[in-house]
Amino acid sequence: MTTTGTAPETRSFEADVARLLHMMVHSVYSDKDVFLRELISNAADACEKLRYELLSDPALAGEDGQPRITLTLDPDARQLILEDNGIGMSEIELAEALGTIARSGTRAFMERVAAAQEGEGAQLIGQFGVGFYSAFMVADRVDVYSRRAGADTAAHWASDGLGSYTIQRVDPAQAPARGTRIVLHLKEDAASYTEAFTTQRIVTAQSGHVPVPIFLKEKPDAEEKQIADGAALWTRPKSDITAEEYTDFYRSTAGQFDEPALTLHYRAEGLHEYSVLAFLPSMPPFDLFDPDRAGRMKLYVRRVFITDEAQILPRYLRFVRGLVDSNDLPLNVSREMIQESPVLAAIQKGVANRILAELDKLAEKDADAYRAFWQNFGAVLKEGLYEDFSRRETLLGLARFKSTVSGEDWRSLKDYVGAVKDNQTAIYYATGSDLDRLASSPQLEGFRARGTEVLLLTDQVDSFWVTAGADYQGKPFKSVTQGLADLSLIPLADGETAPAQASAEVDGFITYVKGVLGEEVSDVRASERLTESAVCLVAPDNAMDRQLEKMLAGAGRLDHAAKPVLEINPRHELIARLGALAEDSGLREDAARLLLDEARIADGELPADPRAFSARLARMIGGAIQ
Ligand code: ADP
Ligand code: MG
Repeated sequence: MTTTGTAPETRSFEADVARLLHMMVHSVYSDKDVFLRELISNAADACEKLRYELLSDPALAGEDGQPRITLTLDPDARQLILEDNGIGMSEIELAEALGTIARSGTRAFMERVAAAQEGEGAQLIGQFGVGFYSAFMVADRVDVYSRRAGADTAAHWASDGLGSYTIQRVDPAQAPARGTRIVLHLKEDAASYTEAFTTQRIVTAQSGHVPVPIFLKEKPDAEEKQIADGAALWTRPKSDITAEEYTDFYRSTAGQFDEPALTLHYRAEGLHEYSVLAFLPSMPPFDLFDPDRAGRMKLYVRRVFITDEAQILPRYLRFVRGLVDSNDLPLNVSREMIQESPVLAAIQKGVANRILAELDKLAEKDADAYRAFWQNFGAVLKEGLYEDFSRRETLLGLARFKSTVSGEDWRSLKDYVGAVKDNQTAIYYATGSDLDRLASSPQLEGFRARGTEVLLLTDQVDSFWVTAGADYQGKPFKSVTQGLADLSLIPLADGETAPAQASAEVDGFITYVKGVLGEEVSDVRASERLTESAVCLVAPDNAMDRQLEKMLAGAGRLDHAAKPVLEINPRHELIARLGALAEDSGLREDAARLLLDEARIADGELPADPRAFSARLARMIGGAIQ
């Protein structure tokens, strides 16, 4: 049994921690109360981790019974002391947890601060919740005494937040019998946190619904009183719970600090029994586009927190926060085994279906709220269109789009299909990264002339799902840059005139261009789709959409790109005049090559050979001036 400690050892913080601490120590963030929420949430997490370990090792409980968090105020010493009897930390864990930045949220915070304008950084503290280190907004020294459950040694971590900390092994009597005690030596201007009224108010408002009871002692030797009951909010009847209670719970458990846009609380009965409390954030979570695309729904079994890595929801619903509490999963099963459980599979299916059904309802009843939801999360939801074929129909119904007729608003596919023109057999779309450029691309001209709507798709994921073979109400999706759009079958809109047949001269010119360009393109042909522009590029029939091809090439995932087709507008005045040029005119070859470069530029590409392009252009302009 170790009763003696070791001498304190001074260590430097990891560079990022030092930067973060500097921010905390000098923070001008006005709502400093958030530090309490952070420390209490850590204490509650520690209690939940212990509950879980107790399942397989009941001896860890020792003498100390029910999980609890205790706050002790010491106005005379200007201290606030937080103690939990959770899992605790060993000496090594202490240095790891409180000397480095492990959590991705804090990292994301630092990146955002670095990118933010002067003065804006402070505001971000509340939005991200920067964890343990936020204690240094209110304290100029922090002592942490901790003892890992089941260990007979204890450790002491201390820092003034100025670049280094000390760590040492101490007499276990200095630490809690199990868990962690954090002593905040409050700054002068933070003395109010030793007032019982103030602290109680903050704790009940911010953390009143953490699933561990919280006690308060007004003085070190005072009686303690319970200020939060630790009852699991989700087990209470819905009708008893106020909107504020839901919001507080959401904020204190979901790592989100906005108002939930939608709260879903229900109990599934029947073959499997479980409770669901789920929230739709109104602000995108910081990790929405992290490469691992992990969801954060928590899994409880009969109120014991098991894991937040069960991936209860499909990845395209990863923005949903909240929890599922199952009545029928076995408690003594390992996290790994849970993944294999048919009960979990049934829960996964049920919860995802319910959430999509709620979204559908929201779209019906509250168009504004749904629009805001789509703005935030539409790009994520669309991942489901190629990842979850079983729900594709539902997801297509939920999807909203910009189109050539949408203006500021969004269109649904139902809207689209309701407005198709005679003989229109496909849903047309164009993909690109910039909405305005897309809207003015030459490929759309023929569609406009026929009053045919084209979806304008600007999210990265769009290029993937449109090519995954989806159709909606029997209509396939078809790119306007792909092959010959069977446009001529669709009648022209009023006031548009049918294109005149190309003259023999123009046909001759097109054949000539094809000869000149040779291997650079896969074909040169007269265009049905152009009405205003002279030329455009499209993909050969049955080839990959050009936008997707460019994306894959950009990501180095394409070894062979199809050569595009150059389409020439035979009705365009320029083309007619080029057709009329004498066959031996020196202009013809320059013109043929410039037309291809013009089409490339309209597609957002560079001319293949910029120097040759400039020389040709100079010759052309020179010729025009003479
Ligand atoms: P996060 O809680 O998001 O991981 P924090 O900065 O709040 O980030 O805490 C860092 C880590 O410190 C936690 O992940 C946990 O491992 C450890 N920790 C903090 N407080 C406690 C506590 N009271 N008991 C046990 N471990 C704790
Ligand atoms: Mg934390």
